[in-house]
Amino acid sequence: MAQGEGLSGRRGAAREIVVAGGGLPGLALALALRQALGETVRVTVCDPAFGRADAPRDLRAYAVAAAARRMLERLGVWDAVAGGAQPIREMVVTDSRLADPVRPTFLTFGGEVEPGEPFAHMVEGGGLLAALRDAAAAAGAVLEPSPVLAAAPEAGAITARLPGGRQIRADLVVAADGGRSRLREAAGIGWVGWSYPQSGIVATVAHERDHEGRAIEHFLPSGPFAVLPLPPGGPLGHRSSIVWTERQADVPALIGGGPEEALAEVERRFGLALGRIALESPLRAYPLSFGIARRFGAKRLLLLGDAAHVIHPIAGQGLNLGLRSAAALAEALADTMRLGLDPGGPEALETYERSRRFDTLAMGAATDGLNRLFSNDALPVRLARDLGLGLVDRMPGLKRLFIREAAGLRGRQPRLMRGEAL
Ligand SMILES: Cc1cc2nc3c(=O)[nH]c(=O)nc-3n(C[C@H](O)[C@H](O)[C@H](O)COP(=O)(O)OP(=O)(O)OC[C@H]3O[C@@H](n4cnc5c(N)ncnc54)[C@H](O)[C@@H]3O)c2cc1C
Repeated sequence: MAQGEGLSGRRGAAREIVVAGGGLPGLALALALRQALGETVRVTVCDPAFGRADAPRDLRAYAVAAAARRMLERLGVWDAVAGGAQPIREMVVTDSRLADPVRPTFLTFGGEVEPGEPFAHMVEGGGLLAALRDAAAAAGAVLEPSPVLAAAPEAGAITARLPGGRQIRADLVVAADGGRSRLREAAGIGWVGWSYPQSGIVATVAHERDHEGRAIEHFLPSGPFAVLPLPPGGPLGHRSSIVWTERQADVPALIGGGPEEALAEVERRFGLALGRIALESPLRAYPLSFGIARRFGAKRLLLLGDAAHVIHPIAGQGLNLGLRSAAALAEALADTMRLGLDPGGPEALETYERSRRFDTLAMGAATDGLNRLFSNDALPVRLARDLGLGLVDRMPGLKRLFIREAAGLRGRQPRLMRGEAL
């Protein structure tokens, strides 16, 4: 491909792929491609957040499912984060109103998918991002601290435009630029979705007693309040991450006051089971939405991560879905290029679309349904769902199925998630 002004283009016969967006799925794709194909593919990851010392820190901690952990192991990244990862050993589900004096447990899950293998680990987002970024750079991906402003397909190529008139002529652009993807919109790819009247408030909470690896999902009328275990540390010795779903209109009143008022609101939901609590980080609210792209690609442009699908965080699966798409896309692209075919051609797009469409829709529908069912205070609905939870709790076979689903181990896995080489 021709050289772009101020940036290099393809060298020799190497293919050129630009990934617009250096979040976790975008970096995982870049790393997987470089590891599998080496110098035969040149990968440039563009993200304005690279090199910005003032970039807002991701306060989220992610429940990384077993399948995603196997992929990170295969990519050689897991070791860098394993020391700070907390296995989830048990899941507990409660369903009550905020003012109820006790929160009865309706459902518990043991946390292992195989003996000694937890169904998920909690991992802090900042550390995982840094590990993937370092590994991608070490594998020879170019990390470019700029946004991709536009991607213009032409005969046999696509040009990614960067600030200052710079550009990269490539075979393919992968848009991994988040739920509000500018590149998806510019390519005219439709989006089916809606905003929830809810926000997800996240923070790290310090507490006195050990959580023993237990994750708790309190279903409250305004939405789920999840307490997710983190490794020991912090001012009180133990820590958990919270994902607190709240009606959007109520968020300013709940967390907009002083730190003491905000802590009191967290305490009302967190409870006293883990002793005294303190806020170890600020509370940050994310607007919640659901959406899926009508197609996962257009001419020489493929969508990845939240740019392709955004789901409710009720089951902590958005990133896992994005990593699964990264594994499937890496597989489709590697297979295409090994056959000597064009990665920007229709074959890779068709394979990718076929492998991901059903799984993505199923996960989106499941998380949307769960949120509607559990963010509902109507008495008949509460009675029916509590009965349902109680029944599931008595069915070990069904519980095992749910755990394997949450671990990302049901259905066909992309090779990387089976722990195999690309
Ligand atoms: C409250 C909350 C809790 C969550 N908890 C979990 C969980 O426990 N487990 C889980 O699996 N998922 C969870 N998720 C979902 C998860 O956060 C997302 O699915 C994931 O972050 C998506 O990554 P992404 O890289 O696709 O998008 P983003 O994280 O939005 O990253 C997009 C990147 O693209 C860059 N960018 C934007 N525009 C451009 C451009 N024009 N050119 C180049 N770069 C650009 C941005 O700087 C950014 O780095 C949660 C989500 C929320 C809201």
